[in-house]
Amino acid sequence: MSVGQLEPLNFVSGKWTPGRATETLEVFNPATMSVLAQFTGAIEQDVDEAVKAATKAFPDWRRTPPQSRIQFLFRFKTLLEAHASEIAQITTQENGKTLAEARAELQRGIENIEVACGVPVMMQGYNLEDVASGIDEMMIRQPLGVTAAITPFNFPAMIPLWFLPYAIACGNTFILKPSERVPLTARFLISLLQETGIPEGVVGMVVGGKPAVDALLHHPDVRAVSFVGSTPVARYVFAEGSANGKRVQCQGGAKNHVVVMPDADIDMSARIVSDSAFGCAGQRCLAVSVAITVGEAAKPFTDKISELASSLKVGNGLDAGVQMGPVISPASRERIESLIHTGLEGSGKLVLDGRRNESSSEPSSFLDPTILSDIESSSKLTDTEIFGPVLSMKSASDLDEAIAILSKSRFGNAASIFTSNGNYARKFRYEVAAGNIGVNIGVAAPMAYFPFSGWKDSFLGVQHGQGHDAIDFYTDKKVVIERWPKEWSRKF
Ligand code: NAD
Repeated sequence: MSVGQLEPLNFVSGKWTPGRATETLEVFNPATMSVLAQFTGAIEQDVDEAVKAATKAFPDWRRTPPQSRIQFLFRFKTLLEAHASEIAQITTQENGKTLAEARAELQRGIENIEVACGVPVMMQGYNLEDVASGIDEMMIRQPLGVTAAITPFNFPAMIPLWFLPYAIACGNTFILKPSERVPLTARFLISLLQETGIPEGVVGMVVGGKPAVDALLHHPDVRAVSFVGSTPVARYVFAEGSANGKRVQCQGGAKNHVVVMPDADIDMSARIVSDSAFGCAGQRCLAVSVAITVGEAAKPFTDKISELASSLKVGNGLDAGVQMGPVISPASRERIESLIHTGLEGSGKLVLDGRRNESSSEPSSFLDPTILSDIESSSKLTDTEIFGPVLSMKSASDLDEAIAILSKSRFGNAASIFTSNGNYARKFRYEVAAGNIGVNIGVAAPMAYFPFSGWKDSFLGVQHGQGHDAIDFYTDKKVVIERWPKEWSRKF
């Protein structure tokens, strides 16, 4: 794609069209700062056209048998697998993560397609004969109509696939609004879906910022909205979408804690926590952000994780051997460095300083792994999502104290314990208020057939993403009560 030429990134009625916004937006590679694409964002009129196309496609798609609908998903999965390397290259270029990380996220997305292909079973209702004499009752599930998903920058392939396969398998039509920072992976995915021969209008895409989101939230023909992103925007989307009568599910931000008990395998724990904290440059909603060591675990764990973090090879995710890429933008790096500075106010200490202090005036998105300790509990950093390669160390005298520390967090996306003691593990699983719990697991990411269950400020809504929850979210329940034949029922 040549710079200077505007890329058409909206997919409406089976065609790629440019957005009508007047401002030109850029997609750039955070490793090299080269511009990958320029485009104009979608505004209300563009979104309206996409919704009209999806509305038009809905009646026929809804009447297409589930068994036939999923044939498009089987073909989509095959195409994604055939183009996996190409997709990973695009993701790495626009997001910065390593190629291995890009391949892995695509795989997790494909797993959601596989689960959604079970819709002929998962979408079934239930029934009972003779709820009264000669009267039968059944619950059937029906699709909602036009649905939409608004997704973040950090998993350009996987997160759209948390929603799209389930939405269309259930008979809905679907509009994707990917992050305007990483729309090229999404464009590739939608182009492959188009190659399956899926009917025009069943899937659409609009790219833009707030104007595109607002147009989806206010459009009377959008029945349901899924959102993944930061908590302040999640709150806005939830409030605005709900006020407009939509079914809304919003996955928000996180600040995940891990507790390392003295009986844990310290070497293994440090390796796993290092992967969790610094993988994807810490830009994962399930990344460990705070490690609480209990008792004598403190020194050996801190020594080992510092050694591991300082040896990570940071660079362009396309280069062989690179283990951690840049963060999404120079602005994000500056925000993270400013949070490190905040953590160091008062008693805060640097165990490992990843700030490069580069003198060059060229903007850079690179930051090396950073470890902080002794942050004051009153620090703003304690409850602020960093979303970068920064791990804060804390210590506790026992498991009760560790749980008390992490329970203060307003977030509840994930929490993990490292231990060889089943009683500690059970207590942790039982008491900790987070939706995804890991026992000797660094990134407690649920498989596609389990719900992605953030709690507290990490989630707003009722049904979560993935698996059965997704089927519940994308269908309305209808109860039918029938009297056949008349002579078997009550006499009048
Ligand atoms: P973000 O909130 O900035 O953007 C998410 C989406 O909302 C994008 O599509 C963006 O265009 C749109 N948006 C941004 N500002 C908006 C506004 N003011 N009004 C309306 N729409 C707006 O998030 P991000 O920076 O792209 O992603 C990082 C965040 O996502 C982190 O907070 C991370 O924890 C969170 N996240 C959560 C999960 C989860 O499962 N809970 C998964 C991945 C990422």
